[in-house]
Amino acid sequence: MLEIKSIAKTFKSGKNDVVALNDIHLRVEKSEFVLIKGESGSGKSTLLFIMGGMLNPTFGNVVVNGKDLFSLSEKNRGKYRANEIGFVFQSYHLLPYLNVYENIMLPNELAETKIDKEAVFKIVEELGIKDRLYHKPSQLSAGEKQRVALARALIINPSLILADEPTGNLDERNTLEVMKYLKIFQEKGGTVIMATHGNLADSYATRTIRLHKGELIK
Ligand code: ADP
Ligand code: MG
Repeated sequence: MLEIKSIAKTFKSGKNDVVALNDIHLRVEKSEFVLIKGESGSGKSTLLFIMGGMLNPTFGNVVVNGKDLFSLSEKNRGKYRANEIGFVFQSYHLLPYLNVYENIMLPNELAETKIDKEAVFKIVEELGIKDRLYHKPSQLSAGEKQRVALARALIINPSLILADEPTGNLDERNTLEVMKYLKIFQEKGGTVIMATHGNLADSYATRTIRLHKGELIK
């Protein structure tokens, strides 16, 4: 479902180039749950952003469901992403001036499949945040915020979820809660690729890969 070939990324910052990724090859099949581990600065976020078509690689291809992301125009790549890929970040990325309902509705701006009210009601029920629908993010706990972000990622029925340390700001109970929802998504046929530091996610993964200084360790 996802194949990356010869991916390299160099950031130009001032006089010094930073090589964030070097010659990464990876194939991920439908319904895998892949953990990406590696110390801070090893390239996990860069890799996830490139996999999602949000960051251009310096070299290489990313093929998702047969589509070569970086051969698409920027507009078509954005559309594809909006319909097929859900993102979850460590810091939630909720819009502070929108309530929970409006945050979950946000993909409507980009995705082709229109999200209806009923779908939002259903997903907040499933994620246990139904009574938070009209609250702003600032009124929510960390765990609730991340469940809203998950709802926003899941509402488009993506084939792939990319999660960048989604439990990095959560305690153990909330971490396991988030892992549970990612696992349900995967068991229904979705693919999950998640970067993480800790060990709490280990038993949820079907495969773990390791990055070290921008290279995959065999
Ligand atoms: P991780 O997520 O594993 O902590 P990152 O992918 O964020 O690692 O970073 C990999 C390397 O790329 C680091 O050395 C980081 O400093 C560098 N890097 C990331 N983003 C940028 C950027 N926008 N400009 C310059 N260097 C960057
Ligand atoms: Mg990171």
